[in-house]
Amino acid sequence: MFASVNSDCIGCGACEAVCPQVFRMNSYEIAEAYTNPVPHDAEESTKAALKSCPTTAIILE
Ligand code: SF4
Repeated sequence: MFASVNSDCIGCGACEAVCPQVFRMNSYEIAEAYTNPVPHDAEESTKAALKSCPTTAIILE
């Protein structure tokens, strides 16, 4: 599984709070997926981060 964040991110920080193993805020206060491919033990929390996103900014492939 690969995770990415698109330009719909509003920088709320929810994904980082739910899954800091994969998501972090960058210097522009926008989320980025910095661990790819997603480790197997983080797949469930990555899916939870997608559900927590108030926009449709997180893409999982
Ligand atoms: S949860 Fe969505 S909107 Fe919030 S920081 Fe993460 S990607 Fe951006």
